[in-house]
Amino acid sequence: MTINIILLGPPGAGKGTQARRLVEERGMVQLSTGDMLRAARSSGTEMGRRVAEVMDRGQLVTDEIVIGLIREKLAEGGKGFIFDGFPRTLAQADALGQLLAETGNSLDAVIEMQVDDEALVRRITGRFTCGNCGEVYHDDTRPTKVPGVCDACGSTDLKRRADDNEDSLKTRLLEYYKKTSPLIGYYYAKGKLAPVDGLAEMDDVAGQIAKALGG
Ligand code: AMP
Repeated sequence: MTINIILLGPPGAGKGTQARRLVEERGMVQLSTGDMLRAARSSGTEMGRRVAEVMDRGQLVTDEIVIGLIREKLAEGGKGFIFDGFPRTLAQADALGQLLAETGNSLDAVIEMQVDDEALVRRITGRFTCGNCGEVYHDDTRPTKVPGVCDACGSTDLKRRADDNEDSLKTRLLEYYKKTSPLIGYYYAKGKLAPVDGLAEMDDVAGQIAKALGG
């Protein structure tokens, strides 16, 4: 059975980590607009240059740009999408509904990852990832076994995001509460919302998600 889901939650809720697990375990396709935008900025395209400053401030880039990115990906085809960090506004949610319908897809569930603000600050300010394979680490709770070397692939290309600092995070959280949290009500009203406790252990969160997706 193919399912399409949204991972919804504030920055640091664990969306990316859980999306990676779903890719590995179920062969789903992760569509992260944050990753797409970071790729655009490092490739130095005109669009990349335009969004870089906005991202570093912690603000949302325009609906037009991110909807365009998702439209391109959906047009490439594929099945079993995890929307990670998209939609983030009501306009994006409406556009996603339309794009899914146009491509013969539908939305099965919206996993709402609930975490409190204090935990988010701790998680984000200690976070780093492997630039080669994308594995996610944390200074205190999930350090690499050998300092400076990725456990998963052995790369030494470990990176911190430019926007993972307390100042940008403040803006990112405000943007989340103002513009993204209304999506909780939007999808609840559509009967799609499945809340999970994002503060639980990583395996436990994965279990809760599996349960919400029907095992
Ligand atoms: P993320 O990796 O999901 O935390 O996204 C990093 C940054 O990319 C965000 O703080 C925004 O500046 C931008 N971004 C990612 N996804 C979206 C989206 N759906 N709408 C608007 N901006 C986005």
